Amino acid sequence: MDCIRIWTEIDIQEIDSHIIMVDDTLGYCHKCKTIGIDIRDIKKCPSCGREIRYVTSTEAKGGRPEIVSRIRKKLPHLAFVDYDDYIRLTGKKKAESLFKA
Ligand SMILES: [Zn+2]
Repeated sequence: MDCIRIWTEIDIQEIDSHIIMVDDTLGYCHKCKTIGIDIRDIKKCPSCGREIRYVTSTEAKGGRPEIVSRIRKKLPHLAFVDYDDYIRLTGKKKAESLFKA
């Protein structure tokens, strides 16, 4: 099955609340800062219990379809979020919250 990027409006906070950052076999929870999470069939963070619905990876930086396909095969139940979009939007959010403070 081929992968294609589809652009849609979505609440970045919703993604940020339910995303896990992964490499080949392990994940990182940015909420509880747990590293080395076994990602096989992951549905929740084993440490903080946060529900996981989205995945992204620094290895997919710049949009690398072979990395996305590899991770999708391992975690077909999670939606793959474009790494660059995720960083851009969450970074922007941080900048905005600085101005609001
Ligand atoms: Zn966690």
